[in-house]
Amino acid sequence: MFSDDTAPLNKYVSLPKVDLHRHLEGSLRLSTMLDIAKQHGVTVPVSMLNLSGLVQVQDQDPMTFSNFLEKFKTLRLFYKSPDVIHRVSAEAVEDAAKDHVRYLELRFTPVALSRAEGFPLHDVMDWVITSTQEAAKKYKIKVNLIASVNRHESPELAEQVAWLAVDHMKHGLMGLDLAGNEAEFPSSPFYGIFKEAKQSGLHITIHAGEWGPAQNVRDAIENLGAERIGHGVRVLEDEAVVALAKECGTVFEVCVTSNFQSGVVKSVEAHPLSKMMEKGLKVTINTDDPSISRIVLANEYQIACDKLNVSLDELKKSIIVAAQSAFLNDEDKEKLTTLLKKELKL
Ligand SMILES: [Zn+2]
Repeated sequence: MFSDDTAPLNKYVSLPKVDLHRHLEGSLRLSTMLDIAKQHGVTVPVSMLNLSGLVQVQDQDPMTFSNFLEKFKTLRLFYKSPDVIHRVSAEAVEDAAKDHVRYLELRFTPVALSRAEGFPLHDVMDWVITSTQEAAKKYKIKVNLIASVNRHESPELAEQVAWLAVDHMKHGLMGLDLAGNEAEFPSSPFYGIFKEAKQSGLHITIHAGEWGPAQNVRDAIENLGAERIGHGVRVLEDEAVVALAKECGTVFEVCVTSNFQSGVVKSVEAHPLSKMMEKGLKVTINTDDPSISRIVLANEYQIACDKLNVSLDELKKSIIVAAQSAFLNDEDKEKLTTLLKKELKL
């Protein structure tokens, strides 16, 4: 969908980047899916174009939540073996490095990856950690991981994931995320789990204020201990929640194309990214699901500047905000910020 804009895109490709909100399960290459289909007998359309229609949002698709989520259902057919999980993890890191992402927080959903073939949760976590860290070294990019749990799954499963995540903190698994359908599933069954996870040292980010109201952003901050909010664009519907987020220094992980494709905003141009910035909120720009959305982070930077009235200077500042909001210790955060300021000539 962005292929006509190659020349202006180059300017954004070369910028050093930070992505704090990217799902591994939304980052699979089409060519890899075709390989997996051949190797493991996954029944999918033979041509890449047809497969694309099943796993990537098309221009003619309805831009709805259900259509967007439908893509994940097909993607689950591909988690066939440990090798597959190793491969897609490594490739997600390689793809981010090619887009000049200097620091990536890649989130993954252990329950989704393990369920199709019945892999133990702790094995899945080990595979993702090993492959992302190896690839990070190879492609000279810093990568940390976030474990996601879904609202529609049982709190017992979430608790297992949370404890395994705590065990893996020393291997770069730095955060816990609550994802899934916030409009239909309340977060209250997860309060205790997130509280304990935070007390154990995990950072917390919560998908909220995307398909649900501003009140969900308040809930994420007050009851789930969220330092960062996934999306959170609907925060603007309630001035009191905007004030709360500012007071708490809450960081918003905004994903423009994803919000358009899943029907959160009516058009890309209608996205409130710059309004959030004007309000003084801490705003970062991220991809969410680059393969499903057929984007790289450079596309999102370009959209911010070309379509949403964000100046290049504001974009650069948002990259620094992202570095300063990373789930890193203070020393590593400082190092990353210094590197980026130098590269961005700030
Ligand atoms: Zn997300």
